[in-house]
Amino acid sequence: MNDRTENVKQAFFKPFDLIIYLIIAVVIALSLAFAAPKNVGVLEASVRGVVVLTYDFSNKTYSVLDGQIVTVLSDTEFRISVGDGYNVVTIDAQNNDAYVSDSDCAGGECKKMKASLGSIICAPHGLVVSFKGASSEPKVG
Ligand SMILES: [Zn+2]
Repeated sequence: MNDRTENVKQAFFKPFDLIIYLIIAVVIALSLAFAAPKNVGVLEASVRGVVVLTYDFSNKTYSVLDGQIVTVLSDTEFRISVGDGYNVVTIDAQNNDAYVSDSDCAGGECKKMKASLGSIICAPHGLVVSFKGASSEPKVG
């Protein structure tokens, strides 16, 4: 009696396991296909609608378009002067991401944002940091 139920169990579960593995494999393949190209590209920092700095993640190079506004602190750190204020934009080249590591704006909301999650917006300074071609246009400050 015991042996028979054991046999039935095995016969039933083996093809079932195979289906599960197949589903897992498909899910992994799909998530890789969709996740990989996301956010790998060119980051743009603009002040009041004018692009002042770009960073290309594909070859880890930056270009300063306005040397009066952008001060290069290191290969991955850029101080952006906005009126009498400033933001420091830090590039996380390893994770294809960027964030504001320092700012003297009121509220400091921009320091809580990440470029990978959407546009970084510092409303008091009119600064926007986002991936080029990103669908998320700045909405609120
Ligand atoms: Zn801010």
